[in-house]
Amino acid sequence: MRTLDAIVPIYNEEAILPELHHRLTSVLGGLPYDWRILYVDDGSADGSPDLLADYSDQDSRVCILHLARNFGQQPAIAAGLAASDADAVVLLDGDLQDPPEVIPDLVRRWEDGYEVVFAIKEKRKESAFKRAMFAAFYLLLGRLSSVEIPPNAGNFSLMDRSVVDAVNAMPEHHRYISGLRAYAGGRQIGVVFERAARHAGEPRQSPRKLLRMGFDALFAFSEVPLRLATLAGFVVSGIAFIVLLRVLWARLVSGTAIEGWASVMTSVLFIGGIQLIAIGVIGEYIGRIYNESKRRPAWIVARSRNLAPRRDAPTAASDARVD
Ligand code: UDP
Ligand code: MG
Repeated sequence: MRTLDAIVPIYNEEAILPELHHRLTSVLGGLPYDWRILYVDDGSADGSPDLLADYSDQDSRVCILHLARNFGQQPAIAAGLAASDADAVVLLDGDLQDPPEVIPDLVRRWEDGYEVVFAIKEKRKESAFKRAMFAAFYLLLGRLSSVEIPPNAGNFSLMDRSVVDAVNAMPEHHRYISGLRAYAGGRQIGVVFERAARHAGEPRQSPRKLLRMGFDALFAFSEVPLRLATLAGFVVSGIAFIVLLRVLWARLVSGTAIEGWASVMTSVLFIGGIQLIAIGVIGEYIGRIYNESKRRPAWIVARSRNLAPRRDAPTAASDARVD
């Protein structure tokens, strides 16, 4: 029987876990697979670890990976991906914004032969401001990214073993999973779903964390911001050249006095601003080079439950696709 793992990052979700677990197990129970749920506890400080311990005691198919502290959603997902040996892996958020009931649709396309099936958010049940920010982000990412990253496809997706192996083999510290998944290629397809509102509580991804994730995605998948600095340099030099012509003309031809400090001040400030932006952009990349070069792990596993490998040679798992 083919194997399927559902990977769910969990950070202080005690209010949602019972409902999530119930819905997820009943959906997976209806699928003809040897399934597991892999909860990645991202350093929760509430009752989530106790709840998870109960679930894993009751059912050996419920596995838990406890990270040593709060590493963030993307590292938590990456930790789950690295720990899974299933033929197919489903990623979903733990706040029921990604309804488990969509999983059978994802699996169906996998059976059709697609290696990546990502769920596309039809409507976001979030504040207008957050929706506008996401729209701007995906527009920017779509224009600038060097690989085609499908818009409105977040973590919620199914990946075949071959793609999971490819993503796991990517060594970078800054892991934007939707981007790495797109980079891995293969036959990919989207399935539209309606994104629910968060089941309870406030988003665990603070605006700061979300912003950091956005920058990670932009700077990891695009060199355009770097080139932007050069472009700005050309534009400013062009303007400066025109101004120079005007100054020379005033001096040599018309003989009118040159305007005073106002024009000098504006150009100094303008060029100063452009230079600061350019340095900031370069700094973003250098910071990332620095982080990558430290080669620290993006997450640390403290302990796990029920997580014995299902087979001796997990890397041969893709063979099971021909059954
Ligand atoms: N999450 C996590 N670590 C964090 C923040 C969030 O594992 O540091 C989990 C969280 O428990 C949830 C999922 O990531 O299961 C998505 O989080 P959230 O709903 O806060 O993010 P958003 O919906 O804003 O993307
Ligand atoms: Mg959410």
